[in-house]
Amino acid sequence: APVPDDALLEGLNPQQREAVLYRGPSLLIVAGAGSGKTSVLTRRVAGLIQTREAWPSQILAITFTNKAAAEMRERVQALVGGAAEGMWISTFHSACVRILRRQAESMGMTQSFTIYDSADSRALIKRILKELDADTLGFTPGNVSGKISKLKNELTDAESYSRNVNADDPQEVAFLEIFRRYTAGLRRANALDFDDLIAETVHLFRAFPEVAALYQRRFRHVLVDEYQDTNHAQYSLIRELVRPIKPQHVPEDTRMSVDANGGIPGASLTVVGDSDQSIYAFRGADIRNIVEFERDFPNSKVILLEQNYRSTQNILDAANAVISNNFDRKAKNLFTTVGSGDKIIGYTGYTGHDEAQFVADEIATLHEQGERYSDIAVFYRTNSQTRALEEIFIRSAIPYRVLGGTKFYERAEIKDAMAYLIQVANPADDLALRRIMNVPKRGIGPATEAALQGYADRVGVTLRDALPDAAQLGLGPKVTAAILEFAAILDEATDSAPTTKPADILVKILERTGYIDALRATRDPQDEARIENVEELVAVTKEFARNNPEGTLVDFLTEVSLVAAADELDDSSGTVSLMTLHTAKGLEFDAVFLTGVEEDLLPHRISSGEPGGLAEERRLFYVGITRARKRLYLSLAMTRSTFGDTSVAMPSRYLQEIPAELIEWRQSPGMATSRGGTRSRALNGRGTGSSERFGYGTALPAAPPRVKTEWTNTVTNKVRDNGDLTLAVGDRIRHSDFGEGRVTGVTGEGSKSIAEVLFDQAGRKRLLIKIAPIEKL
Ligand code: ATP
Ligand code: MG
Repeated sequence: APVPDDALLEGLNPQQREAVLYRGPSLLIVAGAGSGKTSVLTRRVAGLIQTREAWPSQILAITFTNKAAAEMRERVQALVGGAAEGMWISTFHSACVRILRRQAESMGMTQSFTIYDSADSRALIKRILKELDADTLGFTPGNVSGKISKLKNELTDAESYSRNVNADDPQEVAFLEIFRRYTAGLRRANALDFDDLIAETVHLFRAFPEVAALYQRRFRHVLVDEYQDTNHAQYSLIRELVRPIKPQHVPEDTRMSVDANGGIPGASLTVVGDSDQSIYAFRGADIRNIVEFERDFPNSKVILLEQNYRSTQNILDAANAVISNNFDRKAKNLFTTVGSGDKIIGYTGYTGHDEAQFVADEIATLHEQGERYSDIAVFYRTNSQTRALEEIFIRSAIPYRVLGGTKFYERAEIKDAMAYLIQVANPADDLALRRIMNVPKRGIGPATEAALQGYADRVGVTLRDALPDAAQLGLGPKVTAAILEFAAILDEATDSAPTTKPADILVKILERTGYIDALRATRDPQDEARIENVEELVAVTKEFARNNPEGTLVDFLTEVSLVAAADELDDSSGTVSLMTLHTAKGLEFDAVFLTGVEEDLLPHRISSGEPGGLAEERRLFYVGITRARKRLYLSLAMTRSTFGDTSVAMPSRYLQEIPAELIEWRQSPGMATSRGGTRSRALNGRGTGSSERFGYGTALPAAPPRVKTEWTNTVTNKVRDNGDLTLAVGDRIRHSDFGEGRVTGVTGEGSKSIAEVLFDQAGRKRLLIKIAPIEKL
């Protein structure tokens, strides 16, 4: 085979080089974290294009997030120039949406189908549970959607599920009915949920082999990153894509080389993965996919990579030590040539707030030493841990971003505006219509909605189609007029949609419905933030138009619905990234803070009881550790409050698996019994370094430490407002936690001004003046 040029192979070690150059039907690259799996995949793609072994359009590369896809596309382009156009680099979901939109008709849907996110799915399930009075059987929208999702990931639909239902079990029978209604509800709304995107594509390919053949002929090289986290549906999709093409599906005039029977061999498949990083079993990811790859794809070449290029040896030693406690895995040891590096820093706070303060102080110090905020990340197991971190970060004026969590697109006002757009694109979507029927308020109450719904059900039309008939329902002139006006706004937008930019559609709707005016009219300060958010959405649509001059409303909605948590990450933004451990996969940062390394959080309470749960949580911990390039911090708290309850927290069992000499404890878990530390010492995290080991249950007090009351109260949970307090250099102030100090600098304006203060005891801090707990002396 032709060989790519030297620039493309530069710096690769022999195994990596082999992985880039190997040619054959299937290749499996298994290797630990940071060994260059993603880099190799990228160069392989670039190599195929550069040597002209493949047209860009013949390549399908699957990444785990849209962000990773964008990065890979950029790198390939850097290596081979503009030739990379037309190449599909995307997530499973994006690739499937593209396929399904093109083939929607063969599936009895329209091209503008809506994609339901998990909140939408739950809303639909909630309605069904109400219809069936099913909450009495212990069903909740959460557990039902979880179960349906699991089944769909196994490619089980309501019909195939029905074959195995035990008719004597009322629970199972009821669930089947819910599943059926849910499926029918999605159909009626011309909608698919997230799991459908994959499952329906597989069904499509199986039901229409000639459609599958289109894609099999097109994609001659299929490459998959993070293969360890594929579930059964995704695995099946890959199998369909790389199937050999039967002679009857080979066009007469094909220029592809056919075999003796007139068929075409399947596409070449490359997968890369690390079974130690499999963390999505709860979503149906099946670690066996990687273990059994060789069996499923005979004649596969397997390449192992062992050198790690990301982290220091101390960090790798910790990662290796932890993961070696999982049995049933192939032993592999990561090594690096960069040297041992700094020790891992450990810290035990008295409370979650104390822990957060330590993190903030350390970040401030790192930043002073020249580390960019964007090279620092804070990880946690559950979203509820962000509150304490955010509060302290705001007060310490550390710029940060929360990835995932309450996302922009989950805010009520954004969902409202999006529901308008979705309804305009897909009039069959009753869920979207119900959301906006009375938003902004136009006098359509629940009774009116029920009347409309009843009419729609009787006549057999969608809710949207029922609107123009409102006059026949005897609803009273005022509300009838409101409904007709509402219908007119929607119809006008729908008519204009094919030829109008999404931004213009949105602006027009906001104007005509008076949505913004309604927010302006209230005195609620929250509404001001809501207006800003809606304006931000308008900005998003305008940016979309800049990037996609031809982009339609449906294109815009597709893009938005596929934005995954990690996609919000923006390197240039100069902010610290906060995210869950799950979101952290595949990413890397100079400094990583892994917080809440406690029993019940990591391992999480829910997983501990499940088979394989502890091993999966350990892999999650391993993923977190291996994100760090240079510095790793492990922190925990002795007490943690969730939803207002405070409970004693125990150090995570996984901490014990890290060799003691690798961690330098700034404040160790063992200090709890001999707590001589003063408050300021705790706050500054500069206790005497102690590397003593700790024993479970012995070192920690049985009840929350009594000092807790003394100083958690000083870190109040409410953000205060100092109004227009102005400070100048030289002013003396008193801070409720840090005591007295002198202002040494003021930057920024208005509500964003920041004071730099040299405290007499606590040292230098940066504070957001508007909300810091301070008074001028
Ligand atoms: P993960 O398992 O976390 O997804 P990975 O195996 O995909 O990791 P990459 O992200 O590809 O690893 O690489 C880790 C880091 O090492 C990246 O910063 C990458 O640029 C760098 N790297 C990879 N190979 C080499 C090499 N041969 N020389 C120098 N740096 C390399
Ligand atoms: Mg990777």
